[in-house]
Amino acid sequence: MDMEDYPKTTIEFEQRFSTEEACQKYLAKIRWPEGFCCPRCGHRKAWITKRGLYRCKNCDYQASITSGTIFQGTRKPLQLWFHAMWYITSQKNGVSAMGLKQVLGLNRYETVWIWLHKLRRAMVRPDRDCLSGIVEIDETYIGGKKAGKRGRGAIGKSLILVAVEDKGEHFGRIRLHRITDASANSLMPAVQKSVKAGSLIRTDGWSGYTQLPSKGYKHIVARKNAEVGDNLLPLANRVVALLKKWLVGTHQGVVHSSHLDYYLDEFTFRFNRRNSRYRGKLFYRLIQQAVMIEPVIAKNIRGGKLG
Ligand SMILES: [Zn+2]
Repeated sequence: MDMEDYPKTTIEFEQRFSTEEACQKYLAKIRWPEGFCCPRCGHRKAWITKRGLYRCKNCDYQASITSGTIFQGTRKPLQLWFHAMWYITSQKNGVSAMGLKQVLGLNRYETVWIWLHKLRRAMVRPDRDCLSGIVEIDETYIGGKKAGKRGRGAIGKSLILVAVEDKGEHFGRIRLHRITDASANSLMPAVQKSVKAGSLIRTDGWSGYTQLPSKGYKHIVARKNAEVGDNLLPLANRVVALLKKWLVGTHQGVVHSSHLDYYLDEFTFRFNRRNSRYRGKLFYRLIQQAVMIEPVIAKNIRGGKLG
């Protein structure tokens, strides 16, 4: 199996992951690309038990492929998880808990809802790279009915920093970060988390961005004497429009603020891979990231409303 081995079509997926063993093997390969390594003694050879545990041939330690991943402690077969991940990544615009419940044939809505949130969490790559080159930055409000004023928080709204790579003819990657307000104190850390120093950043004339050069960025301000309605930051505006459309379409626009960060991560995950030749590549990335992150405890997800 090479580094980027994934099913390219649904038929391939069905054929390949038709047994629990096949799912276990695939997961093990992604988790231990160099082969098994005993967490206790470092030995590299193991038996696979009937329950899918790896038993070290040297010290008998039993390692589970799922421990330390988001699948830890699951009582459902991996096959079901694989189906969930395939379904989520093969739908272009994201899925609802109801839709996933039907596809998987699960009875409890809450189980599906928790799975979705676990998987969304896995969409955030722990070590993701910063944007670079030419980057357009703007902010937008999500939620609430009235327009919010810049520079102050607005009740019922969340302010999001939107950063988009400008690749000339097309979009590059994006990053979205929730910020408390549009002051320089909030904007600068969010920019530094999203964009590599040395990059050229284009913003409007908002005072919150004047510190950019002192943080190691080149800064250009889109025309200061703009007319109302001028589209000075077209890339950022386009991403904001797509984000809002997606939130309405997939989540009916009802986004509990405690879950907004995950939705932003899901949107980013999908947007940055929108041109992948095969949806299977998203599936592969999702599994890869699912084994990298700490298990998510259900009670930490339940903070907000169901839905
Ligand atoms: Zn061992």
